[in-house]
Amino acid sequence: MFNPNVVVRSRGVMEKCSFCVQRIEEQKIEARRLGQPLADGAIKTACEQVCPAQAIVFGDLHDPNSRVTALAAGRRAYRVLDELNTQPAVRYLKLVRQDRPAAERQPQRSQNTPGYSGSAVSPSIAVDGRANG
Ligand code: SF4
Repeated sequence: MFNPNVVVRSRGVMEKCSFCVQRIEEQKIEARRLGQPLADGAIKTACEQVCPAQAIVFGDLHDPNSRVTALAAGRRAYRVLDELNTQPAVRYLKLVRQDRPAAERQPQRSQNTPGYSGSAVSPSIAVDGRANG
């Protein structure tokens, strides 16, 4: 095994994001060893660390003073399939575009399209995973 932090999976096995549990445990152990609370931002997932756009922010939503708590409380934050009440821990921030002309803000699908409800997501709102912006 070249990297002890990465488990080698059998061919065909789907991999789920583990939120870099090895990094979480490493920082928890270090904080415990030092007798200090785990500081906000001490844990950085690998994808957060390498992303040049800072599209991912990792933190503790139970900490009222953490950066992720502030981002999650913002009006841009939403959870996928929130209506199913599965309460996922991941939040996404929608990107609000207000600079597009009105013609572009019209719904993409025709009102004659089967299944069109006319109450879909506001076309002036585009969604991406950016945490800043
Ligand atoms: S690098 Fe990112 S996607 Fe991969 S396990 Fe870590 S948190 Fe999940």
